[in-house]
Amino acid sequence: MDLEEFRMRGKEMVDYIIDYWETIEQRRVYPAVQPGYLRPLIPDSAPQGPESFEDLMADIERVIMPGVTHWQSPHFHAYYPAAVSLPGFLGDMLCGGIGCVGFSWASSPVCTELETVMLDWLGKMLNLPEDFLVETGGEGGGVIQSSASESTLVALLAARKKMITQMQAKCPDLGEHTIMSKLVAYTSEEAHCSVERAGMIASIKMRKLPTDEKFCLRGETLRQAVEEDKVLGLIPFYFCATLGTTSSCAFDNIMELGPICNSENIWMHIDAAYAGSSFICPEFRPLLNGVEFADSFNFNPQKWLLVNFHCSALWVKRRSEFIGAFKMDHIYLNHDHQNSGQDSPK
Ligand SMILES: *Cc1c(COP(=O)(O)O)cnc(C)c1O
Repeated sequence: MDLEEFRMRGKEMVDYIIDYWETIEQRRVYPAVQPGYLRPLIPDSAPQGPESFEDLMADIERVIMPGVTHWQSPHFHAYYPAAVSLPGFLGDMLCGGIGCVGFSWASSPVCTELETVMLDWLGKMLNLPEDFLVETGGEGGGVIQSSASESTLVALLAARKKMITQMQAKCPDLGEHTIMSKLVAYTSEEAHCSVERAGMIASIKMRKLPTDEKFCLRGETLRQAVEEDKVLGLIPFYFCATLGTTSSCAFDNIMELGPICNSENIWMHIDAAYAGSSFICPEFRPLLNGVEFADSFNFNPQKWLLVNFHCSALWVKRRSEFIGAFKMDHIYLNHDHQNSGQDSPK
């Protein structure tokens, strides 16, 4: 395909997408296919010669569409909304067209700078405490992750690294594995399954604490668990609160939980993946009160904010605890502006 053909095919693809959206209501939301439906519809191996573009476009209706669950259909009511938008498609198209990779400031400066400024904008829309913003010149900042699951996991890993460093500063002879075997993290029984999985991936004991009759985790429950574990010689170090649980949109009481975490040197992460977008509305913002106690906070613009998958926004109070925890010093990553404060907490 040369650029002239791309110009033509690109317009055809836009037309196809417009037609899809105009008729999406008529499609069956959940596909009527059985597992393995696709393999018989296409060749066993990649063809030796090219096919015409018309044949490829025909394959979209013949091969792809029968297996699509139409998440954007007005008749779709499963899981959660994955609200995309037409400007979002255009953004994705531009991104794909530029095709740069932004793993550090130098690898494509606009990626880091735009991400940092947009997360400041978004943070201000949520009225996050200034500690979480970059523009105020503080130590915090925001970064885009591909999922809330990843945000919970990286916060857990940063907290683990921080606690290991603190323990070794006190007792230099303590090995990393000895410390890790004593670490204990907490969340509620109602937390998303990704929190428990983060514990499994990080090899950390994750205690699931019971909630009250409104599926809300209360401060007293956490306080008791922490006391029990300290008596056993364990080291409480991480707590993941949920604001808007996946199963019932319940809210943990972070006004009670936050001060306990702060006084016990426990990292508090807030998972607001599902309900977080609503805090932009002043009438819902009180539900976020207590975020000032948190060390990290995450929500998913990809759920309610008309942003295409994958966009999960994570803010941290101290960038250095993320950058420092995972820092790699390779010659091919070095650049002249590393200490300009611009590298995002990736
Ligand atoms: C959807 C959801 C998640 C998982 O989000 P991913 O971005 O798919 O990892 C985590 N926590 C809560 C509360 C959710 O609703």
